Amino acid sequence: MNKSQPIRMCIACRSKHPQNTLIRLKQEGSEVVASDGKGRSFYLCDICVHNEKKIKGLVKRFKQDEERFTRLLKTLANEADTCN
Ligand SMILES: [Zn+2]
Repeated sequence: MNKSQPIRMCIACRSKHPQNTLIRLKQEGSEVVASDGKGRSFYLCDICVHNEKKIKGLVKRFKQDEERFTRLLKTLANEADTCN
């Protein structure tokens, strides 16, 4: 195990995970989008990405369009799966 792996907190459940297991997002204007490494980003764990209740909570918290936001998370979760 790589000890230098940074630990980040999931914004939905507040549990801590190695950064490379989390999905990285950022806010751009009023929309939440995939992080490109620039600006402030935040993280979602793999469990929350598949948890409808948590996603709905985030939709409200960030005032996102639910359909678009859910689609974004699905895309990012699938990408993470193929990388591993
Ligand atoms: Zn989480």
